[in-house]
This record gives sequence, C-alpha cells and structure tokens, in this order.
Amino acid sequence: MSNAPNQELQVIDFHIHIGLREHFNPSILRLFGMSNPALQEQISEFMKPENIVSMLDNYGVSRAVVLAEDSPKVTGVVPNEFVAEFCSHYPDRLIPYASVDPTENPNPAETLEQAVTGLGMRGLKLYPSYQYFYPNAYQENPQMKKLRKLYECSVRLGIPVMFHTGTSVFPGARLKYSNPLFLDDLAVDFPDMKIIMAHGGRGPWFNTAFYIARMHSNVFIDISGLPPKNLLRYFPKLETISEKVLFGSDWPDTLNIGANIEAVKNLAISDRAKTQILGTNAAKILGI
Ligand SMILES: [Zn+2]
Repeated sequence: MSNAPNQELQVIDFHIHIGLREHFNPSILRLFGMSNPALQEQISEFMKPENIVSMLDNYGVSRAVVLAEDSPKVTGVVPNEFVAEFCSHYPDRLIPYASVDPTENPNPAETLEQAVTGLGMRGLKLYPSYQYFYPNAYQENPQMKKLRKLYECSVRLGIPVMFHTGTSVFPGARLKYSNPLFLDDLAVDFPDMKIIMAHGGRGPWFNTAFYIARMHSNVFIDISGLPPKNLLRYFPKLETISEKVLFGSDWPDTLNIGANIEAVKNLAISDRAKTQILGTNAAKILGI
C-alpha cells in the first residue's frame, strides 16, 4: 500500500469534519476518541488547516469537502464562520459546506444565503436525525414551510445539499428522520437540487438509497462512514450507479483515509467505476 499521491487518479474526499474541542458535546468527543484515539487528546491542537492538508497530501487526496455542523441538540455546533475561515487558507484544497439547523433557526434560508454569498461556502449539510426534522416536512407541517424556502434558496444559489442518512452512534440521534425515502420527495419537488445521501442509508436503508439514487438524476450517495471493503455487500449492483457514488471518509470518525481509498481500489468493480467513485463524480459536482 502506497501513500504517495497518485498522478493518474484524482481522489476527492467528499466528507470530512473539523472542529475544536469546545464545538463538540462531550459524548461525541469520546466517540471520536474510540475511532481515532491519537486525536482525542489534542483535537484542538491538530485542527489547523496546514495539518489537514498535509494529511490529505499523505493519502494522495486532492480536495476535501469540509462540513460545518449546526446540531446543538446532539453533536454540537461547528460554526459556518469557523469552517469558512479554516478552508480559506487552502481554497483549492478545502471546500467548505455550511450547516443550518432548520428546526431551531427561524430563517434557515437567510442563514444559508449569508453563508454562501458572504462566507463563500459551497454546499449545505443537513443532519435530520440530529436536528429532528423530516426532510419533506415542508409538505404537511405548517411550521416547517421554512424548509421549502431553504431548498429553494439552495437551488437559486446552485449549491448541493447533503443529508445524513441511516444510523448514527451518537446519543440522542433519532433514526426515524434519517430514512432516505423522504429524499425521494425532494428529488421530485426540487429536480434542480443536487441531493447527496451521506452514508447511503447506512444500516436499514441501503436498498432504499440505492433505488433513489438510480431513479433520480439529481441524487447521489456518499460512502463515508461505511467500510469500503463491504460496499458490494451493501450495494450489490454498485457498478450500475457508479456515476452517482462519491468517496468520503467521515474523518475523524475513521482512522486512516488511505486504507479506505485502497479498499475502494480493491473492489470487484471496473476501473472506470473506481475512478468515478474516487474522484471524477465529485469533480463534476464541485464544478472542477
Ligand atoms: Zn459525517
């Protein structure tokens, strides 16, 4: 296994987290520590743009999507401002995605607009199981009409929206909100919105996520948080949706991004599919 950057193969990690100790709730820090023990003690010291970029260099990763997190009820708050400033040191390498809690925030569309036009952020991450909302709640819940405005805003700004889907180990997460089936409604109602199902419906809904990605040209799966060696068990027909699948690590919730890249390279799928999953699909979404 080589850590040298691979000239031919572009690898983009579509899903990493950053944050300082004070951003995360204590139970989350404990779980980060179980995945990544060396990081736990010195998380705030390590979280510097140059350290992240040199880690990406070691693994041959050209770019990473860096996620903010506005989930005060469960995991914590990694502010948009923090992530935008962090990424601004390496604008060609680190791509900041905003987060907004559509339940707590009275005007999430306005927050998103400010994050994109004011802070230069390039996507939106929503965490339904930590923020406690059904992604399609704009249809029936009068209090969640603001969700429709949020999605309309993302379409107008031309930014993708990533949703956490499937299981989570974080205490307080409510699984019912993270069923990818709700995203089918969004794919129909907002055909111009690029929707990314993070973790591919992990656990109970791999099949649901697969069929939704296959049905809708605007829906993608990111494989973060899944052991890549098992991908063909979760998605036996992975090859048929290879243009809809994005590599992601979920670092620091994984120890070694390089091992995950190697595991994708070792899958029994075509070289074309591996190239798409590891980088070219992401490059298209990012407009590179
Ligand atoms: Zn994640």
